Order: sequence, then C-alpha cells, then structure tokens
Amino acid sequence: MSAKIISGTETAKAIREELKTEVAQLKEQHDLVPGLVTILVGEDPASQSYVAAKNKTAHNLGIHSEQVTLDADTSEEDLLALVDKYNKDTNIHGILVQLPLPKHINEAKILYAIDPNKDVDGFHPVNVGKMMLGEQCFLPCTPHGCLELLQRSGVETSGAEVVVVGRSNIVGKPVANLMLQKREGGNATVTLCHTRTRDMDFHTKRADILVVAAGVANMIKADQVKEGVVVIDVGVNRIGVSESGKAILAGDVEFESVKEKAAAITPVPGGVGPMTITMLMKNTVQAARQLAGLE
Ligand code: NAP
Repeated sequence: MSAKIISGTETAKAIREELKTEVAQLKEQHDLVPGLVTILVGEDPASQSYVAAKNKTAHNLGIHSEQVTLDADTSEEDLLALVDKYNKDTNIHGILVQLPLPKHINEAKILYAIDPNKDVDGFHPVNVGKMMLGEQCFLPCTPHGCLELLQRSGVETSGAEVVVVGRSNIVGKPVANLMLQKREGGNATVTLCHTRTRDMDFHTKRADILVVAAGVANMIKADQVKEGVVVIDVGVNRIGVSESGKAILAGDVEFESVKEKAAAITPVPGGVGPMTITMLMKNTVQAARQLAGLE
C-alpha cells in the first residue's frame, strides 16, 4: 500500500483563495484592509527568506504588509518602542516579530509586549492561555496548519490515538493541546514524546495519527509505525545543497519507507510548511475583523 499524499501546497492554495475573497469583501463592504507588519532583527538567511515569503503571500492576498528590517545590534529598548508604535497603529492588525532574535534581546519580553489582539503568531501568554482553555483566540500557525491539514483531508481525530513527538512551545505542546480539545478536530487521546521518553517505539507504533516535530532528519522509520497510520511531518531539516545552490530539505520522517505503510502522509517540502504562512494570513484577517468590531 502506498499512502495518500496530504499536500500542504494544495490545501494552502485552497485556503488562500478563500482568504483572497474575504479580503476583497472586507475592502468592498467595510473599507477595511487587513494590515500585517513583520519585524526582522539581523540578517539570518533563513529568517530573511521566511519574512520575504510572508510579505509576498500577504501582498498576493490583498493584505497590506510592511516589513521592518533592523540591524543585529538593535537594542531591546528600541525594539520595544517599535512594537509599541505598531500596537498603536490602526492600519496594522497583526504584528509578527521573526524569531530567533539576537541573544542580547529577551525574546519573551518582546513577545509579551505585543498587543494580544495583534498577536497573529499566537505566542502571547494571553492567547496561549485562551487556547489551553478552549476559548476563541489566535492559534499558533504551525499547529493550526497541522489541524487544518487533518480536517481538510477528512481524517477523524475523535477517539484516535495521537502521538506527538516533540514538546516545544511553538509546535509540540500546542499541537497536543489542540488535539485533545473537546471540539471538532480534537477529542483525541494524546501522548506527547520527547528526549526523556523511555520507549519511543512503543508509543509511535500504536499511533493512529503521528505528528513529528523533533528537528531530526529522517528519525522516524517504517518499523516504528503501524500499518495505516496518518503521518504529519513538521520537521524541516537542511541536509545538503543542490547543484543549483538550493537547500535540500528532509522531514523528521523517512518519507520513502514510511509512505509504504501509512494511510496518509505529508511530504517535506510541500506539507506543513505552506500551511504555516497561510494560517498567519488567516490570523491577520481575523485580527482585522476583530479590531474593527466585525466579530
Ligand atoms: P525544538 O524547539 O528544537 O524542539 C524539538 C523537540 O523535539 C523537543 O521537545 C525535543 O525534546 C524533541 N526531540 C528532539 N530530538 C528528539 C528525539 N531524538 N527523540 C524524541 N524527541 C526529540 O524544535 P521546534 O521548533 O518544535 O521544531 C521542530 C521541527 O519542526 C524543526 O525541524 C523545525 O524546523 C520544524 N518546524 C517547521 C515549521 C513549519 O512551518 N513547517 C514550523 C516550526 C518548526 P526535549 O524537549 O526533551 O529536548
């Protein structure tokens, strides 16, 4: 059996079409243009390309986007002042500070300074707390993207054994939390694994749905999963450079062997990646609606 490929590229495309229509309607009916600012500190090439992709996508959807690039030696004080400026800017509904920040800046301090109503990354403790409580909030983009992929692929989560590998605050923990919420797309029995997990294979082998976000290239092999599993591979690992100078990427799951056993699987690239940016756009549109009092 060869798995159904869950295409993040295709799913993201469909959601972006929906968003494009929504953005056009907001403009026409309410003279409202959602606005996003991305703030990049320093010249990390990966961060530069992420920010460029976010701005390009926003532009394509009709979202107003501003990009601020600051020197790597920008002070914490100056960055806080910039965040404050955008907190007050009524044309901006979403503020994204690209992580990681240079070491001399306290990341938490910056993220906590963002108005929770403009926290389209969903990293502010107010939004994290609301998510935990199952309240309406901005969901973190990558975990939200994983859920959308499952839902739009018709994968039943209710009652499923879900195993998540990785417990970071931006992927593993929120994915686990969202999948156990008492609502559609949740209701799963969730196990969270990490480096101190005693017997990883015991858990991964009984997963109906396996979400892997460890950051270790090809760590999950075919003999660690059961026949018919649905695999969401969040990992993005640079394993080399092609002749044309492009990064060669691999997920955390050994795609070629696992796809022969799985019922469905996301590829890398083209899986969770495109969904993350799309969910950021969805949050920006949601922020604009909320700040304009439309919901
Ligand atoms: P992270 O902060 O480094 O966390 C990795 C987690 O995996 C940790 O909880 C760690 O356990 C666990 N882990 C690492 N090696 C393990 C092993 N051998 N066995 C069991 N658990 C292990 O990483 P992250 O930010 O969550 O990102 C994870 C991956 O997803 C990365 O490849 C990243 O590039 C990718 N990612 C992709 C997107 C996207 O849009 N597609 C977005 C975000 C991240 P401990 O807690 O015990 O150390």
